[in-house]
Amino acid sequence: MYEFENIVGNKNIINSLVKANENDTVYHSYILDGKEKTGKQLIAKTFAKLLLCENNKTTPCLKCSSCISFDNGNNPDFFFVDNNKKSLGVSDVRDNIIKNIETKPFKYKYKVFVIKDAHNMTIQAQNAILKTIEEPPKFAIFILLSKNYNSFLPTILSRCILFKIKPLSSNIIEKFLLSKGISSSMSTFYATYSRGSIGRALDIAYSEEFINFRQNIINDIEKLNSLDLIQMYKLINKYENIKENINDILDIYLLVYRDSLILKKTNNVEKVIQKDVINIIKDISNMSTKNLINKIDALLKAKLYLEQNSNFNMTIETLFLKLKEK
Ligand SMILES: [Zn+2]
Repeated sequence: MYEFENIVGNKNIINSLVKANENDTVYHSYILDGKEKTGKQLIAKTFAKLLLCENNKTTPCLKCSSCISFDNGNNPDFFFVDNNKKSLGVSDVRDNIIKNIETKPFKYKYKVFVIKDAHNMTIQAQNAILKTIEEPPKFAIFILLSKNYNSFLPTILSRCILFKIKPLSSNIIEKFLLSKGISSSMSTFYATYSRGSIGRALDIAYSEEFINFRQNIINDIEKLNSLDLIQMYKLINKYENIKENINDILDIYLLVYRDSLILKKTNNVEKVIQKDVINIIKDISNMSTKNLINKIDALLKAKLYLEQNSNFNMTIETLFLKLKEK
């Protein structure tokens, strides 16, 4: 069920959306921009539900026919555009949006369109939707969800209110996981891997696949020092084949070295996040402080370079040469 209280963080954005509805100053187009699984869809849908609610202005009443049909996925005035393709073309915009905007709402005050992955709209599609956004009928509200607002035409951007959704702090995620009944040590652990995303934290917490994957990578870390160059290139090859997970892989490395450094500096096992692999952490903590810091530094840099689309192989090769330094 879509309720504001189920949304963690992002209170400023929610407050301004709710205020707009309360004061009847809802704008016709919004962009919610943020990384994967940061709650864009949840915020957009909850706001849409509020806009369509027949009773309340600040939080969906959950009782009216609109709220009920919304949760059942058949509210006639709510349109969720998700074409599951790499790009959103003119025909997608025409069939899902422009055609539906020609008629008044079926039952409620607005027609609300939430467009998933709107950054994937082709230039032609953006131009097609632009005309609608420029002179929208009073009842039309657009919420564009995007992972990269820079891919919008300036003409689109200038006609939308842009909200940037920021990753949450790991403290907030930890508290959320605790409230879901996950143990304190595991909450810290998952929050560290979540990259500021509740959705990701939950995915990990309930995924056996991730636990196995992590174990596999930790085994690699354990062996790293004893690898010769040929074996090291084999390892790089392995990671290249699962490139899409490289952020996870580097996070797992980071956390192992981070834990080892903490253990070395504090000699306190309680401060270690990954107590389940304490023997490996203890082993690695025998390295010099400088060496551990250098490895962490190299990992952070590699993450940054990859984010900036640097050459994958070169970045990873340089990284592993540094990780193998004694
Ligand atoms: Zn309602």
